[in-house]
Amino acid sequence: MTGGTSHMDATEKEIDKALRPLSFADFTGQDKVVENLKVFVAAARQRGDALDHVLLHGPPGLGKTTLSHIIANELGAGIKMTSGPVLDKPSDLAGLLTNLEPHDVLFIDEIHRLNPVVEEYLYSAMEDYRIDIMLDSGPNARSVQISLSPFTLIGATTRSGMLTSPLRARFGISSRLEYYDAKLLTGIVQRSAEILATPIHEDAAFEIARRSRGTPRIANNLLRRTRDFAQIKGTGTITVDIAQFALNALDVDHHGLDDMDKRILSTIIDKFKGGPVGISTIATACGEEGETIEEVYEPFLIQEGYIKRTSRGREATEAAYKHLGRPMPQHMRG
Ligand code: ADP
Repeated sequence: MTGGTSHMDATEKEIDKALRPLSFADFTGQDKVVENLKVFVAAARQRGDALDHVLLHGPPGLGKTTLSHIIANELGAGIKMTSGPVLDKPSDLAGLLTNLEPHDVLFIDEIHRLNPVVEEYLYSAMEDYRIDIMLDSGPNARSVQISLSPFTLIGATTRSGMLTSPLRARFGISSRLEYYDAKLLTGIVQRSAEILATPIHEDAAFEIARRSRGTPRIANNLLRRTRDFAQIKGTGTITVDIAQFALNALDVDHHGLDDMDKRILSTIIDKFKGGPVGISTIATACGEEGETIEEVYEPFLIQEGYIKRTSRGREATEAAYKHLGRPMPQHMRG
C-alpha cells in the first residue's frame, strides 16, 4: 500500500482486497525474492521460531503490502498493520507490540518516516523482544521492562536510502522488488479480470499490461477503468479496441507514460536544454514534490531509459527526445 491508497472509496478498497493474492503460489513475479522468502518462512516454521525481520523496498504498487500479508498467511500467523507517520509516540508502538501473539507479523509501511524516538524503542523490540517503558514522571518516574512475544517486523519503504543504519542493520532479510515486465503483468491483468468476472481478450490484457509502468497496482486500476468503458461503450468484453480507446481516454500513452512522466521529460528538455538539472529544480518546475518524483516517477523513467542520473543532475536521453518528438540536440545526432 506504500504510496497511498487513501483516495480510494469503500468499493474500490473492497475490489483491491479481492484482487490481492493470498499465497506465494498466487503471487506472480519477483521470483528470486519469493523463492528466498519461501525458504526463510519454511525454515522458521520448522524450527518453531519467529521469522527474522524483513525489509521490503522498491517503488510503490509492486506488492510490498501484498507480500507481507502472504508471509503472515504462510507463517500461519496474524498481522497488524501500521505506518511510520502514524506511530507518533512510543506508547502507540508499545500498544501494538504488547498485543502481538507469538510469531505474529507487525507491518510498518513507510518505515523511513518513523519518528526517531519511536525508532529507538523499536531497536530493543526487534533485537531482544522487549521494551522499556517509563511509568509516571517527575520523582516517581521509573522504567519497567515488558517482554514481548517473539514477532516479525516487516518494514516497507520506497526509500531504503533514507533508513538509519541502526534500523537497517536490524533486518535479517532485505529484499528489493523490481518493476514487472509486460508478460508478467498480462498474467496479473488476466487473473484480476477473472476475479472481477470480466471477459478480456489476451491482446487486450497485454495492451493494458504494457502501458502500466511495470506496476501491478496501475495495471489493476487501468483494468477497472477499462472495464467501465467496455460496459458502457461496448458489449462488456474487453477487446483490444476497447482497451486502446480507454487508455487513450485516460491519457496513458503508448509506452505507459502518464501525464507527470511526460511533464518531467518536457521540463528537462524544453526548460533546461536536456539537462543536467537537479531534482528539486525539476520538482519546482513540474509543481510536484521532489520526494514523489524521486520515489515514483524517476525510477521508472531511468529503467525505461528516458533519463540518466549523472553527478551533475538528471539528463534527458535520446529516447526522451524521440518520445516527445523534439528535435535532437547536435551532440546526440549522427
Ligand atoms: P505496495 O505495498 O508495494 O505499494 P501493494 O502490495 O499494495 O503494493 O500492491 C498493489 C496492488 O497490486 C495490490 O492490490 C495487489 O492486488 C496487486 N499486486 C501487487 N503485486 C502483485 C502480484 N505479484 N500479483 C498480483 N497482484 C499483485
